[in-house]
Amino acid sequence: SAKALGRNRAIRFESGMDEAAQARRLIELDLRSALGKGEMRLHYQQLVDVVTGDISGHEALIRWEHPDRGIVMPNVFIPVAEDTGLIIQIGEWVIRQAIADLATWDERLTVSINLSPAQMRSSSLIGTIAHAIAANAVDPARICFEITETVLMQDSDANIETLHMLRRLGVNIALDDFGTGYSSLNYLRSFPFTKIKIDRCFIAEIDSREDCQAIVRSVVNLASSLGMKTTAEGVEREEQMTMLKAQGCDEVQGFLFSHAVAREELSDLRHAPDVEIIDRRMMEMADY
Ligand code: C2E
Ligand code: MG
Ligand code: MG
Ligand code: MG
Repeated sequence: SAKALGRNRAIRFESGMDEAAQARRLIELDLRSALGKGEMRLHYQQLVDVVTGDISGHEALIRWEHPDRGIVMPNVFIPVAEDTGLIIQIGEWVIRQAIADLATWDERLTVSINLSPAQMRSSSLIGTIAHAIAANAVDPARICFEITETVLMQDSDANIETLHMLRRLGVNIALDDFGTGYSSLNYLRSFPFTKIKIDRCFIAEIDSREDCQAIVRSVVNLASSLGMKTTAEGVEREEQMTMLKAQGCDEVQGFLFSHAVAREELSDLRHAPDVEIIDRRMMEMADY
């Protein structure tokens, strides 16, 4: 009951938790009921093809519309969701919602979905994805899952197996925030990535610093020789764009093009789901 929670809260605070720990505990209490209350929303940020200038798709970025706190950003609550295991439920909601949204977009567009390390270890991950693909009759090649280097460093044999299962479903896999972790380049060979997203810290000063230029150029060359695409994160200025174009980066994302917006605000060409292929995809995915 609320009273019991309140009492629990007081007890926990008296036991000498620091302020940060108390703040996390408060978030945790509300986070447990947030999904059920419909407080989670997906926003979408454009991914832009460097060569054509067209929108190639959108990355789903979760927001929590908290009744008192207003919009809570993922950097605040995703770590709490990860620590408490709530990320499994929240992550499955994101997968279902993003794939259902994808089914309403033009067939040329893709969706990118972030996956936490804990989701990679969840026994229901593959089934959730397969079911969402089937139920919405979308081409799995239009879906990209983004994972960070952390996933490569923990329990890597099991994670490699999960990544291969994802590839067998036909979805793409991006290595997110590349360059911020401590993974060895060797990982790039052993994991079946289709795309590398170069972290925004290298893009931030690419138009003024030669070391950033050298790093980005190397990653683009490495990716291309391994048959992977590259996306530059956090592009905010035309000068960065010019540099990225010259270096052969495939895709860009950043405030220069758009912020993440609520799904209702996406003005893409709408597309009615193709009912005829739902049955076929249901059959294909039935084994999962
Ligand atoms: P990420 O996957 O690297 O997503 C990109 C982040 O960079 C987003 O922050 C986006 O709003 C921000 N960004 C995009 N362009 C620019 C730019 O030009 N300049 C700057 N300064 N920032 C830019 P956001 O939405 O706050 O998300 C932060 C992180 O939270 C994400 O980083 C991702 O790791 C995590 N996250 C978001 N949604 C989900 C989710 O559904 N599931 C999981 N597991 N994690 C999520
Ligand atoms: Mg991402
Ligand atoms: Mg990123
Ligand atoms: Mg990030």
